[in-house]
Amino acid sequence: MPTPSKPQDFIRQTITNDLSNKKVSSITTRFPPEPNGYLHIGHAKSICLNFGVANDFNGQCNLRFDDTNPDKENPEYISAIKKDVEWLGFQWSNLFYASSYFDQLYDFAVQLIKLDKAYVCSLTAEEAREHRGSLTSAGKNSPYRSRSIEENLDLFSQMKAGKFDDGTQVLRAKIDMASPNINLRDPIIYRIRRADHHQTGKTWCIYPMYDFAHGLSDAIEGITHSLCTLEFEDHRPLYDWFLDQLKTPAHPQQIEFSRLNLEYTITSKRKLNLLVTNHHVESWDDPRMPTISGLRRRGYTANAIKDFCDRIGVTKVENTIEMGVLENCIREDLGEKAPRALAVLNPLKITLKNYPDDQTESLNAPNHPQKEEMDSRKVPFSKTLFIDRDDFREQANKKYKRLVLGKEVRLRYAYVIKCEEVIKDENDNILELICSYDAQTLGKNPEDRKVKGVIHWVSAEQSIESEIRLYDRLFNVANPASEEDFESTINPNSLKTLKKCRIENSLNNAQPSQAYQFEREGYFCLDSSANKTDIPIFNRIVTLRDTWAKIATKG
Ligand code: ATP
Ligand code: MG
Repeated sequence: MPTPSKPQDFIRQTITNDLSNKKVSSITTRFPPEPNGYLHIGHAKSICLNFGVANDFNGQCNLRFDDTNPDKENPEYISAIKKDVEWLGFQWSNLFYASSYFDQLYDFAVQLIKLDKAYVCSLTAEEAREHRGSLTSAGKNSPYRSRSIEENLDLFSQMKAGKFDDGTQVLRAKIDMASPNINLRDPIIYRIRRADHHQTGKTWCIYPMYDFAHGLSDAIEGITHSLCTLEFEDHRPLYDWFLDQLKTPAHPQQIEFSRLNLEYTITSKRKLNLLVTNHHVESWDDPRMPTISGLRRRGYTANAIKDFCDRIGVTKVENTIEMGVLENCIREDLGEKAPRALAVLNPLKITLKNYPDDQTESLNAPNHPQKEEMDSRKVPFSKTLFIDRDDFREQANKKYKRLVLGKEVRLRYAYVIKCEEVIKDENDNILELICSYDAQTLGKNPEDRKVKGVIHWVSAEQSIESEIRLYDRLFNVANPASEEDFESTINPNSLKTLKKCRIENSLNNAQPSQAYQFEREGYFCLDSSANKTDIPIFNRIVTLRDTWAKIATKG
């Protein structure tokens, strides 16, 4: 018996009990995405749970594509999903496709007909709706419900053989049209649909419905605990009904937990798909997307995402998590690990009038102020430098601890400088600052005076031009999914592109998977599409502090 160090969630408690009561002897779970889009942060919760449970109890976890809906699925999604699960650091015990069970599922359906538990129904969709009843009134039996077993077997095999047009016949389970649970009112189990399937091609023109295929696929694989989200709670009686009628050797136990909802974003593949197709974002892996691929391109680490899933836990309580919780996870991860670098987002040139013209110094800059083991690098220092425009004012009060005309400031890892003169164009725009530097102040404070502020900088000549992309919330409202027209709540300023930024030379070799802390600015990483351009593009992963919370409390 595993002895997890943390308190167990209700699912792990159930499993612990099932093992000790010998209800099951080993654990098998599955993560069952439909390949109709890219995985999002909500799926990460389900992945961490299913694979995590399997790890904790020395069991197995399958990756199974629930691919029963060929219209919306495609192989691009399959490879993206595999890549995301692997990138999160999980290995499936088996890779399965529900579509590879189509023969078995067909046989199960035939078995149900033979048990007089399923019938071919020829009602039109409209008529079927009328027969279904409502939440407050019972449904009516279909006139085709009393077809004989022989007739049903014949009609079903004709459905399979392509003798009927799409949508004209369905196979339905014979349960109870008066059930208070609408899912049990003779649900459809097979429909006719002529569509090329990405795995089975044109072999089939009938496809099983999700509720039928899902539970039976679980049973075929010997899943012991079928973990799914709360909206399937009402489907559980149907899940169990199929397994009971068909007396499958294994009877998996369905357990529901609450979905992850995250503020200011969307966790629905269908809606995320609309963002892509309607060009609100560049692609599924746009760094603003809550997809796993978007988060990865943005610079999130697998560890941060897993830590997030750990922190939110697994319960049956529906809630919406603040974006700040996710951001804190990546901030903490990168705060520990990310090397520091100097980058000037909004460059203002300064010339040190008393610095020798042709001199360049290589100054030592630690890669992490608290971690000597992360070593240091050399940054070039020269007569002309860039600082950030926001770090200069012609006049300011004492609270402003940066560069002011006539005053001093320290350049990080370098010297104390003093602004002597401001050069402007005819429209009063500041073009350049003329400064002096104190050669005695490299790595030490001047003895006769206090210099409080420290700002960052790069050498003008020996730095690289870069484009920097700053991201904000994708939506302007906390719960866009509840809006009638969620696309109208998109934040038009979710991407701010800064051109002609200057970054230190050493970032020449940056890789997309390596995040940096640009000192005083935040955490950044090279955009993975950047090799397509001459100018490197960096994404801001997250700010140094939770600026959003500050804005929220200020009102
Ligand atoms: P979507 O509406 O985004 O398509 P889905 O539930 O239809 O979501 P599936 O591909 O069927 O997507 O999901 C695979 C698994 O991931 C399921 O077990 C599902 O319950 C789980 N899952 C999906 N979204 C979330 C979420 N927001 N939080 C937790 N688990 C989720
Ligand atoms: Mg779905």
